[in-house]
Amino acid sequence: MKLLEYESKNILRDAGVSVPRGEVFAVGESIREVGFPVVVKSQVPIGGRGKLGGIVVANDRNELERAIENISKLEIKDFLPKKLLLEEALAIKREFYLSLTINRATASIDVIAHRDGGVEVESQADFWSKPLTNDSFDAVSESLAELFSLEEKSFLLADWVEKLYGCFVKNDATLLEINPLILTESGELVAGDCKMTLDDAAAFRHPEWDFEEKSADNNFVTLDQNGTVATIANGAGLAMATVDTIAAAGLKPANFLDIGGSATPESVASCFARIVEFPNVSSIVINVFGGIVRCDDVARAILAAREKFPSLPKLSVRLSGTNSAEAAKLLASSGLTLHPDLQSCLEEITHG
Ligand code: GDP
Ligand code: MN
Repeated sequence: MKLLEYESKNILRDAGVSVPRGEVFAVGESIREVGFPVVVKSQVPIGGRGKLGGIVVANDRNELERAIENISKLEIKDFLPKKLLLEEALAIKREFYLSLTINRATASIDVIAHRDGGVEVESQADFWSKPLTNDSFDAVSESLAELFSLEEKSFLLADWVEKLYGCFVKNDATLLEINPLILTESGELVAGDCKMTLDDAAAFRHPEWDFEEKSADNNFVTLDQNGTVATIANGAGLAMATVDTIAAAGLKPANFLDIGGSATPESVASCFARIVEFPNVSSIVINVFGGIVRCDDVARAILAAREKFPSLPKLSVRLSGTNSAEAAKLLASSGLTLHPDLQSCLEEITHG
């Protein structure tokens, strides 16, 4: 599951990593005393807020009130904030990119960095990366210091790297991204933004987990962050077969998902919420066999959930089993075809 920025920063703070002083408010809640300048940050589970108006620096009470009003109703990639983070605005000298992620090919934790962090970093190609282990903190931080031209801060960076590594492992993270890592005018390093993704499969050993997004009770596994086809199926066997068939057709499946024995508008919506975070997904294959679950209920759930996501990728639906004729009628009335089999779904995707 993805944490919100303030949740990730709480974890960093507890680990002794330097984060800006700040406070979280519910949208609509009145703001108590704050110092200026202050930065108002929309707490939506998605990046790119800065470019879309979700991060605003306010220099006085008037600007603060205007910023809060605007950001509270600003929808960012289909997400409206329920909370706002107000933080002391930092005087930024430089911005870096620093993240830890799991490298599945080498079964290691990799540090990825860029000397030019901030909102444009995604357009950069030349990311630096190195495997990180218990005994490589010093070596890694020396190269990082060189990359950032912060040779005098090599010791400090070693401390950062060690703490981030501990934080990553202890929290069963799959991603810990600090962008920007800020060098302030006064020479401090501070995590300006943090995004963490935790491994849902590890929820059983984290009774302390209590975040806005609940760990998915459905079985969602990211396969390829850059995948183009998302999948929703019921039953692990059918879900695997769906992924395999899509891959065999030369397409790139983004995820595995077994929605289990029932599909409610809420459960389908929570699947869609995860799917819309994949940047390259252009279609969603829904492959459900109606044995216990009824196809018309699934169709209703899909249609209701779709309402909440105006920019949802194209749906390609195969439902078969109990009440499938009824499901076909419901889908048709919303302009969706009910495909008789997966092959027919894939033909729609590849040939339009
Ligand atoms: P994102 O766009 O969702 O990744 O949101 P960030 O929290 O990374 O903020 C985007 C950008 O806003 C940063 O790269 C900074 O340039 C700017 N920003 C964020 N916090 C501050 C701050 O405290 N002071 C100043 N001057 N700029 C900030
Ligand atoms: Mn950021």
